[in-house]
Amino acid sequence: MNIYLFIIGLIIGSFLNVIIYRLPEGSSIITPPSHCPKCGTRLKVIDLIPVLSFLSTGGKCRYCNTKISIQYPIVELLTGFFFLAAYLKFGFTVQLFIYLLLISALISVTFIDYQYMIIPNKITYPLIVISLLSAIIFDYITIFQSLLGIVIPSLLLLIVAFIFKGGMGMGDVKLAAAIGGFMGWSYTLAGIFIGSLFGSIIGLSLMGLGIIGRKTRIPFGPFICIGAVIMIFFGDILFNWYLNLFI
Ligand SMILES: [Zn+2]
Repeated sequence: MNIYLFIIGLIIGSFLNVIIYRLPEGSSIITPPSHCPKCGTRLKVIDLIPVLSFLSTGGKCRYCNTKISIQYPIVELLTGFFFLAAYLKFGFTVQLFIYLLLISALISVTFIDYQYMIIPNKITYPLIVISLLSAIIFDYITIFQSLLGIVIPSLLLLIVAFIFKGGMGMGDVKLAAAIGGFMGWSYTLAGIFIGSLFGSIIGLSLMGLGIIGRKTRIPFGPFICIGAVIMIFFGDILFNWYLNLFI
């Protein structure tokens, strides 16, 4: 079973690559069929096998030898890994499918925001709606919890965005709302906090090493996503540990 979840993750990951590559440019996800961005050759089934097709050609297009970004197999492997990890954590439950959807969206957002400095509404708006609908249909979270999750963390980020102009964008605010709709406000806030810590450490290290300047804008979205994923997998452990500090 484990290997199946991993393989399904790889396949979904290769679909996420299409989203990451096409959504910010406004092109359709469905048409045209996958093709090499350089020579335009339509890819055959053998070229679409996750990770393996990349390895078999040494990371180059089979038809024109253009180098293919290492990001493609990385996204596929990452998705495969998280699908497997989520299955091991949640088993075959409603939560598994809900979190697989959320994790897939977070992976797309991470790579899109990292490359283009935007978080598409085409991802966040549907996510917010789906989070509310799944709270209504399934009982893994109450509707009230989901609503609070949509409102509280995003409101906080909105205030932060107004006070410190520039750092955060409306995309981050909507992303927080979407995550909150799935995870509830407390987990989402904890995730944003952990993500900000990560972001500060990495930002300061890169500045210290002279890799980026003081003014360089670092997208915040990927760190919100990292924090959210940490809370999906370790939220219960972290909250238990935190509560035990006071008992
Ligand atoms: Zn090519």
